[in-house]
Amino acid sequence: MSTPRRFFAEKLNYPEEREVVLDGEEFIHAKTVLRVDVSDEIVLLDGAGKEYSAVVQKVEKSRLIAHVTGDSLCDKEPKTTIYLMCGFLKNADKNELIVQKATELGVGGIAFFSSEFSSAYMNENKLERLKKVAREATKQCLRACAPKIEYFPDFAAALKSAEGFENKLFACEFAGKSEISLSKLCGATVLVVGSEGGFSEKEYMYAKSLGFKGISLGKRILRAETAAVALCTLTAYALGELE
Ligand code: SAH
Repeated sequence: MSTPRRFFAEKLNYPEEREVVLDGEEFIHAKTVLRVDVSDEIVLLDGAGKEYSAVVQKVEKSRLIAHVTGDSLCDKEPKTTIYLMCGFLKNADKNELIVQKATELGVGGIAFFSSEFSSAYMNENKLERLKKVAREATKQCLRACAPKIEYFPDFAAALKSAEGFENKLFACEFAGKSEISLSKLCGATVLVVGSEGGFSEKEYMYAKSLGFKGISLGKRILRAETAAVALCTLTAYALGELE
């Protein structure tokens, strides 16, 4: 049996209202890509962690109407928050890959930043595209909340936004040795990974002054996207999210 298709729906007001209209991008995807039809079972997501089972009643030109039959809390969301901060990369596909894989691994939010050795430039369209990738990955891996995607043009502001996390980890290609053992992690964790240009000594020192712990991912230099996915995986595993 195939898993019912999942769609983000705004303005869900169940159980008071059981008829839900799906329009815009989600409708176009449902109709033209997934060929959703009358009497198909679907799942609607409110974006805040709740799922609603529904049956398609009508498919019109620019919207469909579904009848909600029940609701439940999604059990696929991670219990512990992992937040990824990543240097914005020149190659758009690589930023998208990071967003897709981090979403699948359960990351709660992803912030891209500019730093001393990064030369890529973000704009509104690129940010929108990354948010879309996050939403698609969220549905595909059966999560109910898409990670928040942000951009910090200022590196210091990005690091400062991580205040309050129990663990603040900074993957540094010249760290030499990790200052904290990943296997002992416990609690909300923020991860920082550099862009293809890496970090400057000054940036590393600044991060440390804010309480970040240097993390080595071994003796080889990994591509930024490899480092991001590897660190998310190790962290999710250490926090018991991959069992
Ligand atoms: N241009 C740099 C490499 C940047 S790699 C150089 O030539 O040295 C991009 C990012 O991936 C780094 O900033 C770091 O965050 C992460 N990374 C890559 N390899 C790593 C390693 N062995 N240990 C820790 N972090 C690593």
